[in-house]
Amino acid sequence: MRSISVLSLPLSPLLLVSISRWFHGKITREQAELLLYPPETGLFLARESTNYPGDYTLCVSCDGKVEHYRIIYHNGKLSIDEEEFFQNLMQLVEHYTKDADGLCTRLIKPKLMEGTVAAQDEFSRSGWALNRKELKLIQTIGKGEFGDVMVGDYRGTKVAVKCIKHDATAQAFIAEASVMTQLRHNNLVQLLGVIVEERGSLYIVTEYMAKGSLVDYLRSRGRTVLGGDCLLKFSLDVCEAMEYLEANNFVHRDLAARNVLVSDDNIAKVSDFGLTKEASSTQDTAKLPVKWTSPEALREKRFSTKSDVWSYGILLWEIYSFGRVPYPRIPLKEVVPRVEKGYKMDAPDGCPVVVYDVMKQCWTLDVGLRPSFRMLRDKLSHIRAKELYL
Ligand code: AMP
Repeated sequence: MRSISVLSLPLSPLLLVSISRWFHGKITREQAELLLYPPETGLFLARESTNYPGDYTLCVSCDGKVEHYRIIYHNGKLSIDEEEFFQNLMQLVEHYTKDADGLCTRLIKPKLMEGTVAAQDEFSRSGWALNRKELKLIQTIGKGEFGDVMVGDYRGTKVAVKCIKHDATAQAFIAEASVMTQLRHNNLVQLLGVIVEERGSLYIVTEYMAKGSLVDYLRSRGRTVLGGDCLLKFSLDVCEAMEYLEANNFVHRDLAARNVLVSDDNIAKVSDFGLTKEASSTQDTAKLPVKWTSPEALREKRFSTKSDVWSYGILLWEIYSFGRVPYPRIPLKEVVPRVEKGYKMDAPDGCPVVVYDVMKQCWTLDVGLRPSFRMLRDKLSHIRAKELYL
């Protein structure tokens, strides 16, 4: 099997890699008008609506004035006039570039956001752009929050492909992909490349992890199949990936067994960098996975490597309970208040004392006293599987 080269450069850390450079994000009506000054008929930009969160606004300069058109988001489609509907902003802009179709003018010239580079250009420059023609999509293997995960074939290599059709979501995934361009470790799911399509779709191509997510793997095999050495190996695999992220100052924020994948040769690799670092500013606390998130991160959005350590403790508990949902029999709303008072889960059945000690250390409420991944790896790597059950 030929492999795909991954000797590419990291993406520019100083520039925002943008799927559509005329999209200026959260700016006000007044800021948009300043950006479209001096007047030039057909000069346009898009922004997030300040009055209607979740909707967008198209701002167009026309005969010395700026018109602001509300773009509504309805049933997964975008529209200005509720007659023409589009799958994403890029397709909407493309339509009104060809024809005014009720707007004051057709869209002629994009007002580009400073400090951004076009995604396609940046991925090509850094060597991460793959050729769509060489990618064969074979079948759907999973459903992510924002699009399908498919197994595919790229130049004879089996690959996993995340397909994102909505350009605003694609923009968020570009953050995920740009984080992945900077990281390389045997226990992190490797990015192989990216395809940005002109019509706003994005494909993120990664190595294929034949045995799927760790949580499903643990549940389906169970304790009759998976021995102590195997559980310890998974724990160490993840810990080594996290030690690498810690050393490189990356915070994962969503570490859990569902976000760890297992390769054909039983190596556990951390995946889903969607929330890693860059995505932090937009993090909505209401969407956090409460049972995996540390108290200080839930309370004050204080995410750090140490909050990842907390989640790692929960992940260890998942591993040793063969994929059970944490805090069994405790109603979700009671979890945080109890944890804040110092409650810690019991050891899973049959869990070795040394491993349970590691879990409890991860759940130290005082962030300063919580161990680092380096310390945890040191501790775990000194446990010899065959001694565990003596
Ligand atoms: P995600 O959107 O990353 O949470 O992925 C959803 C599901 O797709 C996962 O639970 C896996 O079952 C599957 N999946 C994601 N990435 C891969 C991959 N690299 N190899 C194999 N399966 C994957």
